[in-house]
Amino acid sequence: MAKQIDYERRHMPKQEPFERVKNFDEVAIGYTEELAREEAGRCLHCKKSLCREGCPVGINIPAFIECIVAGDYAAGIKKLKETNALPAVCGRVCPQEEQCELHCILGKKGGSICIGRLERFLADWEAARGKTETPAMAALNGMKIAIVGSGPAGITVANDLALLGYAVTIFEALHEAGGVLTYGIPEFRLPKAIVKREVEYVKSLGVKLYLDYIVGKTRTIDSILQEFDGVFVGAGAGLPWFMDIPGENFNGVYSANEYLTRCNLMKGYRFPAYDTPMKRPRCVAVFGGGNVAMDSARTALRLGADESHIVYRRSKEELPARAEEAENAEEEGVIFDYLTLPVRLTGDEQGWLTEIECIKMELGEPDASGRRSPIPIKGSEFKMKADAVIVAIGNSPNPLIPMSTPGLAVGKKGNIVAEEETGKTSRERIWAGGDVVTGAATVISAMGAGRRAAKSMHATLFGSK
Ligand code: FAD
Ligand code: SF4
Repeated sequence: MAKQIDYERRHMPKQEPFERVKNFDEVAIGYTEELAREEAGRCLHCKKSLCREGCPVGINIPAFIECIVAGDYAAGIKKLKETNALPAVCGRVCPQEEQCELHCILGKKGGSICIGRLERFLADWEAARGKTETPAMAALNGMKIAIVGSGPAGITVANDLALLGYAVTIFEALHEAGGVLTYGIPEFRLPKAIVKREVEYVKSLGVKLYLDYIVGKTRTIDSILQEFDGVFVGAGAGLPWFMDIPGENFNGVYSANEYLTRCNLMKGYRFPAYDTPMKRPRCVAVFGGGNVAMDSARTALRLGADESHIVYRRSKEELPARAEEAENAEEEGVIFDYLTLPVRLTGDEQGWLTEIECIKMELGEPDASGRRSPIPIKGSEFKMKADAVIVAIGNSPNPLIPMSTPGLAVGKKGNIVAEEETGKTSRERIWAGGDVVTGAATVISAMGAGRRAAKSMHATLFGSK
């Protein structure tokens, strides 16, 4: 008898909004085994599995789902790890709704398989078991690789090259590894214990990690190249943009980077147990509409703000944040001020921010990004009270590495120029990938770039031996 098609997604239980807004614990609680197997049981195991086409690292999705149906979770996690070194992270933060789940055949009727949730289930199952399988490793091949940055791009290169027999060393500027996964994405979306576990796993493959090591200052890439056979630059895009409007120097105006770093990396949310003071403003306005903006606005509420606003110049349809995260923010009480552009900040005599002057916008024709462009409505200026502003409108790469590496080509926005398929830069023996090349993007795209670069490094360096 043909299998009855079940279009009903099994949603992952979440903390209730009124509870979660008072804590930093993870919002989505995780599938029970029963729920995971029910959800996996909906998969049609299509001959031509469209979901796979939407996965940037080509995970064999129906195969790992089949393992869940069979209750063979060890085989499922092994299958996942053939192509994805960070399933616990990707299962939580990848925009599946634009990738694998968008392509899932069941999505045609609105009920695509919760692929990310199932990925997370397997990764969490492995973590709870407390035993991580290490794939077969090649013997050391005598070659040394240096990696700049320990974000998802750098970790992926480290993982892949260590398995191929390279002696890998990561140099990380901050005092903790993980890149944005550690300093940017808040605990309530991605618990730091998970990132730590992934970093420890890579170290267990023999990868050395030097923290507080700023390449370009502590040591240049050219000096590193005297000791190493090749360098991968995965330094991310950590330089925040500001609005360039009057008043941005008032106290109480933060970049999202600073705000989230204080809270996550420096554990400001656990003051006084941790010694990082954070201002507790009453009324916060976050400028921007992406994931970074949502994370900032939700963090502000958890830190005790009475009001937390997203001030965004386009409409809800154009929000670049994941739909799920915007929905979570709305449920938690974040106020969305759409079609609103801040034009000036004002403050008191002590230099503290007090008000934001804004103008209302309407949408015109689509611009180069394909989204309708916002146009100011004359005479619609108004003021809103705020004692903190968090600017979350984007980032570009820090110029330190290009400035200290002669001959390394950079693009208009300061990004390192590298070939998409290989990560090769304008300099021999230097590869690059992730946000430092593309500008702020996604975890999975950084991992994909790391994987392609590792392949190219192996082909070039080992091939030339
Ligand atoms: P990064 O993660 O930025 O790591 C780069 C590392 O290099 C950092 O640790 C940095 O300290 C280090 N470094 C920099 N310069 C040097 C130097 N000179 N010497 C040594 N080390 C150096 N993506 C998603 O897919 N889903 C999400 O939900 C999501 N949410 C996000 C929320 C926030 C708040 C932010 C900021 C980003 C979010 N992203 C999300 C984007 C995603 O995290 C990034 O695209 C991804 O982390 C990029 O990886 P990367 O390895 O290229 O760089
Ligand atoms: Fe399963 Fe959907 Fe992929 Fe088909 S397209 S194999 S139903 S996840």
